[in-house]
Amino acid sequence: MKILITNDDGIYADGIYHLKKALDQIGEVLVVAPDVERSAVGHAITISDPLRVFEAERDGVFFGYAVNGTPADCVKLGIRCLAKWTPDIVVSGINLGANTATNIIYSGTVSAAAEAVIMGIPGLALSLTAFDVKEFDYTCRLAVDLVRKIEKNGLPEGTLLNVNVPPVPADQIRGIAITRQGKGRYEEFFDKRVDPTRRTYYWLAGKRMILDSDEDVDDVVIMRNKVSITPVRYDLTDMKMLDELKKWEIEQ
Ligand code: MN
Repeated sequence: MKILITNDDGIYADGIYHLKKALDQIGEVLVVAPDVERSAVGHAITISDPLRVFEAERDGVFFGYAVNGTPADCVKLGIRCLAKWTPDIVVSGINLGANTATNIIYSGTVSAAAEAVIMGIPGLALSLTAFDVKEFDYTCRLAVDLVRKIEKNGLPEGTLLNVNVPPVPADQIRGIAITRQGKGRYEEFFDKRVDPTRRTYYWLAGKRMILDSDEDVDDVVIMRNKVSITPVRYDLTDMKMLDELKKWEIEQ
């Protein structure tokens, strides 16, 4: 199997290090990832500036290509220019922080998998739903299993898998649930501060709000210490409204 790995936490993050180690055992792996953290850049691509690539080392050996761009840039550039082969799958992660509910649309992690899907290659996004995680073994084992399952079963055109793992020890994980995207979002506020030259600046902050209670929703499942796997499509068309809109008889 040929596997392209990327992330949005940057090429030197812990999650991508462990993910590469795990997937090295089941295929030929190439890492192409942002040179620094690019979380929450969504599906942004770089068009006004050149993309630069350098060889990044970890443990004193070549680890992968670092790119001064976004996760979606990394997938495009990785497939078109850097890999010597077309990958069988693109795996994005292991991200720190939940990519559930409304977060999916801001997520660089999920957008990288979506970019793969747009290019006709299966995409898998992996996240651990906390920021202080040091334990990646369970998620790595799950990644190996999911990559094999996707190899065997394939994914429908236009669909990626978005996986979120609760931040608890492996023996406390209470199973795996197939879920749908929730409505939860952040209760946001801007922390207004003053810099040393007395100029005002703002820093976005907030608290996650879970706005669902159904047991098949990503955020709810995570609360129950289960792994959430959501099939996600990037086609944003509202099919119901499409028919309704035709009745508006919009002219001009
Ligand atoms: Mn991230």
